[in-house]
Amino acid sequence: MSKYELYTVQLITTCSNCYILVDTPSRAAAVIDPGCNPDKIMEAIKDANADVKLIIDTHGHWDHIGANVPIQQQTGAKILIHKLDEPMLTDPELNLRKLFLGKGDGGKADRLLEEGDIIELGDLRLQVIHTPGHTEGGICLLCEDLLFTGDTLFRLSVGRSDLPGGDKTALLASLANKLKPLDDSLKVLPGHNSASTLGYEKEHNPFFRQ
Ligand SMILES: [Zn+2]
Ligand SMILES: [Zn+2]
Repeated sequence: MSKYELYTVQLITTCSNCYILVDTPSRAAAVIDPGCNPDKIMEAIKDANADVKLIIDTHGHWDHIGANVPIQQQTGAKILIHKLDEPMLTDPELNLRKLFLGKGDGGKADRLLEEGDIIELGDLRLQVIHTPGHTEGGICLLCEDLLFTGDTLFRLSVGRSDLPGGDKTALLASLANKLKPLDDSLKVLPGHNSASTLGYEKEHNPFFRQ
């Protein structure tokens, strides 16, 4: 029996990926980046028989936090985000809510994350890797053979660095210093588009070569 189960929910309005990571024996689960379509996410949660304990935002943009509140209301999960992106939960200018025609806000953080933090989920451990550049408090999450990369790293691309809090130099440094040393066999699970592996990205992604 695998230690974990992973479900990907493709969100329609925001074209982003929401992931449901389940600790197989206990069914304890984390919802990573619930950006919109809360009904679709809740349906996937029920289909997976997942007991959602945590909502983890890889960063504070609306397409990753927009359904924090409805998912929290229906599951009682705690909201986790890096401390530098916490203001984005409630600031519509910073979180680009209008761009995605969203309403409300991203709720209130129950736990603020930092580099190196370990998030416990049943028997699973998620390691927080602070990867600024797309936003100041962007993170990747490492768990078993999975690397959730948010908008830091996409298949053959990276997230924008021209938005508030973005910094191209910081983004390239995050790739070179934080992600490049990690194992090639890791599965890359990005905030948008399809999955990849870290080895493939190190070899073919132009942003790893700059
Ligand atoms: Zn983003
Ligand atoms: Zn995004």
